[in-house]
Amino acid sequence: MVIKPKIRGFVCVTAHPEGCREHVLEQVTYVKKQGHISGMPKKFLIIGSSTGYGLSSRIVAAMGCHADTIGIFFERPEEEDRPASAGFYNAKVLDAYARQEGLLSESINGDAFSDAVKQQVIALIREKFGKVDVVIYSLASPKRIDPKTAEVYRSVLKPIGASFTGKTVHTDKKEVHEITIDPANESEIQETIKVMGGEDWKLWMDALREADVLSDGIQTWAYSYIGPEITWPIYAHGTIGKAKEDLERTSRVISDDLSDLHGKAFIVVNKAVVTQASSAIPVVPLYIAILFKIMKQKGLHENCIQQMDRLFRERLGSGSQTLYDSEGRIRMDDWEMRLDIQEEAKNIWSEITTENLEKVSDFTGYQQDFLKLFGFGLSHVNYDADVPLGVV
Ligand code: NAD
Repeated sequence: MVIKPKIRGFVCVTAHPEGCREHVLEQVTYVKKQGHISGMPKKFLIIGSSTGYGLSSRIVAAMGCHADTIGIFFERPEEEDRPASAGFYNAKVLDAYARQEGLLSESINGDAFSDAVKQQVIALIREKFGKVDVVIYSLASPKRIDPKTAEVYRSVLKPIGASFTGKTVHTDKKEVHEITIDPANESEIQETIKVMGGEDWKLWMDALREADVLSDGIQTWAYSYIGPEITWPIYAHGTIGKAKEDLERTSRVISDDLSDLHGKAFIVVNKAVVTQASSAIPVVPLYIAILFKIMKQKGLHENCIQQMDRLFRERLGSGSQTLYDSEGRIRMDDWEMRLDIQEEAKNIWSEITTENLEKVSDFTGYQQDFLKLFGFGLSHVNYDADVPLGVV
């Protein structure tokens, strides 16, 4: 089948198997080029491991730390006349590369919020891993089915308290325009916390601890975002921000729970990058396009894999100094949040329009990264060729 990108709003509903393989290979090559990361644990469980920050974390764990990994994700396999989702291809490809290196690399495609997947993972750890040393929680999901009540919760990206009017970009039409988003009601806030807050992370850690599959010294971390003031109404002060506050609170609870295992739970605050999750947030893609332009000019730009490689190599590996902020978080957004960068971003934000979009921001870079998420725009791939829908 010849596969071309089919973009519907902020998602691309097709994915290219060869392109996804190239995209994973690009990340694998980057990490291997940086050399081995010493002093890191050897058995990782990554929840939300098929795209974005979770995928990059898994690649750094396997290819940089030479660790065995289990990846959990929720992706659509290929059908007769329809390619799989990008994450499905990514995971398959990464398993193959890691196994070529002699590593254990196991993937489970299923709903991480369910009890069944938790039990499946526990059985897999017992059978093949013994115990795990690190659990990375990198889920981004629009909904969650509560495993106890079967109730469905949906997350929303809305401001709280008052409606928000601000700039955003229509990525398909390349148009900068104003949007107004009405504030969330109480039930929407609570549902977003249910989906993107810490409850499921704690359920995972409780289940793994009860099953005695966590090593002494277990580390677990989850990813968060803070960002600059221009994004606060929709992010930090919005429904997703409330969920992230809950995630942070939960990290402290999990840390206490893990004290008998000399374990620790913490939050890593990452920088804004193009992922399937971030492209769905109003305002944020326009900010990312501006941020990329400034950070590239200053030689500080990082994509997902570069950011995760720096986390493992410079903040967690041996010889590195793990610095926590006053709230006990690791700040990988340190370069993004630099005063000079934010000052410039603010200035560009006030002047950006449809007409000057390409000039004052790196919208082209944004679009290239977006297409890459689905395996498009990679230089070694012939997009006019017929490709089998399964990855070889
Ligand atoms: P993403 O959309 O690329 O990845 C989400 C992952 O979760 C995928 O592997 C997907 O398969 C998995 N997933 C979703 N629902 C699932 C389910 N029910 N069961 C199993 N797996 C499921 O998202 P991302 O941007 O990499 O986000 C990961 C984390 O990083 C989130 O906590 C996000 O808030 C955080 N973060 C993202 C950014 C950014 O700019 N993208 C910045 C800072 C922090």
